[in-house]
Amino acid sequence: MNTEELIALGQEVTMHTFNRQETVLVKGQGAYVEDLDGKKYIDFISGIACNVLGHADQEFVEYISKQAGNLIHVSNLFWNENGIKLAEKLSEVSNLDKTFFANSGTEANEAAIKLARKWGTEMKGPDAFEIISMNQSFHGRTLASLTATGQEDMHTAFKPLPVGFKYVDFNDINDLIAAVNNNTCAILLEVIQGEGGVNAITPEYVAAVNEIQKKEKVLVIVDEIQTGIGRTGTMFAFQQTSLKPDLITLAKGLGGGLPIGALVAKNHVASHFKPGDHGTTFGGNPLATAAGNYILSAIEKQHLLANVQEVSQYIINEIESWQSLAIKEIRGKGLLIGLKLTKSVGHVITKAAEQGLLITSAKDDVIRLLPPLNVSKLVVDEGLEKLKVALQA
Ligand SMILES: *Cc1c(COP(=O)(O)O)cnc(C)c1O
Repeated sequence: MNTEELIALGQEVTMHTFNRQETVLVKGQGAYVEDLDGKKYIDFISGIACNVLGHADQEFVEYISKQAGNLIHVSNLFWNENGIKLAEKLSEVSNLDKTFFANSGTEANEAAIKLARKWGTEMKGPDAFEIISMNQSFHGRTLASLTATGQEDMHTAFKPLPVGFKYVDFNDINDLIAAVNNNTCAILLEVIQGEGGVNAITPEYVAAVNEIQKKEKVLVIVDEIQTGIGRTGTMFAFQQTSLKPDLITLAKGLGGGLPIGALVAKNHVASHFKPGDHGTTFGGNPLATAAGNYILSAIEKQHLLANVQEVSQYIINEIESWQSLAIKEIRGKGLLIGLKLTKSVGHVITKAAEQGLLITSAKDDVIRLLPPLNVSKLVVDEGLEKLKVALQA
């Protein structure tokens, strides 16, 4: 089947939940991907911040292939070495204590919401199940994570939603202080709102969150699903702030493209989960956790955090020198870069694809650049040249 026929069939047999670019990708190498017609693209989406090492990294592929040849899945009725090792590593790099593995970001947040509720009702009282989240946040698509997502337009068609969620304006300290009460069990936030427009938390807001956490017996949950695993130049974005999360949630980059999610929590919170409180069939399976182990060790061995910081500055310097190209503001950190445009992003995305560059958007007329963490300046030069043409078109 050719591209046109495949897309026509796809429209017939899959639900129309995504507006996809009109291309069928078939293979990749590093920061490049190729479609069915043999057209090559630079991939500055990385499967939405998942492909930490780009495509078809030879050692990574060998590592997970070898694991697939031993065990793919055994269920959580048994222990497996890869899962134990990955949890140990996550404790070490996060300074938190215990991990629950899931298969996606939204599931990691569901686990966090359940754990926070159980902690709240056991530590504060039967009504202490309220979670405060931020307007313009994104936490996933399953019902509780969707409800935590502070975007009303995503809620409308799916009511009734679970109760116990409250929304405040991100970075508005008074709004937050007014929302906290005896029924609050947790504040849930992103350090940089990825889907919501690449909006960064302010130091003043961090200070206010810390103050509430200290005085009010309220948990702080940081959703690091997009910002974590090196994306912003440190292992986790909260490490560039003075936030002291009780829980963090991870997914996207953790599996380097394989589906995995994780909730990592302090002992005093984690201890509230008892056998039977939560579970998953696939979560933490030997293949996904092998991928996680490989990715975390590659970030260290290949000095990817330094690369992210250096290439990020390189990209920002270059884009700043462009002037008058419809860029109103440069946002984000590391290799999560947002470009707020004065014109429609849809058009720029289409033009970029024509040039052979894949980019995506975030809310609020923002172009989002998410190259792999091992991207080179050479590839960046090539990608930015294409972006420039797309912006001029
Ligand atoms: C992508 C994302 C999610 C949801 O992850 P899925 O794997 O798509 O369920 C949640 N929170 C943030 C911040 C994300 O970027």
